[in-house]
Amino acid sequence: MNNFINKIKNFFRNLYARSYGMDDINRTLLVLAFVSSIIELITRSTIIYVISTLFIVIFIFRYFSSKKFARSEENRKYRKLIKLIKTKWTYRKTHRVFMCKNCGQLIKIPKGHGNVIVTCPNCHNQEEHKS
Ligand SMILES: [Zn+2]
Repeated sequence: MNNFINKIKNFFRNLYARSYGMDDINRTLLVLAFVSSIIELITRSTIIYVISTLFIVIFIFRYFSSKKFARSEENRKYRKLIKLIKTKWTYRKTHRVFMCKNCGQLIKIPKGHGNVIVTCPNCHNQEEHKS
């Protein structure tokens, strides 16, 4: 019996040691799962129940994934996207914000100057954008 308990302990110890753990995407998935569960409780919608379950399944998959590099690359891209959305929202009235297609640097140009050729300050790549 004691041997069996030790095997279970070792299993969970190894599982946690190999698992990727918590990051920004997993936090967002948990919040989305929680919010959609509450909406599902109110509306009793099957579709929202399935969506909520899907969020939890993806969360568990990512949390216990042993492919840490792949998960951290996903998280890096997610953080970049969130940063782009936040910057676009912040400067939505005065600037156009976009990502350099070559290096991913965020570039913002003032609105109302027509089509302009923009040089990336990071990689000096030139792109034409509508301002
Ligand atoms: Zn660039």
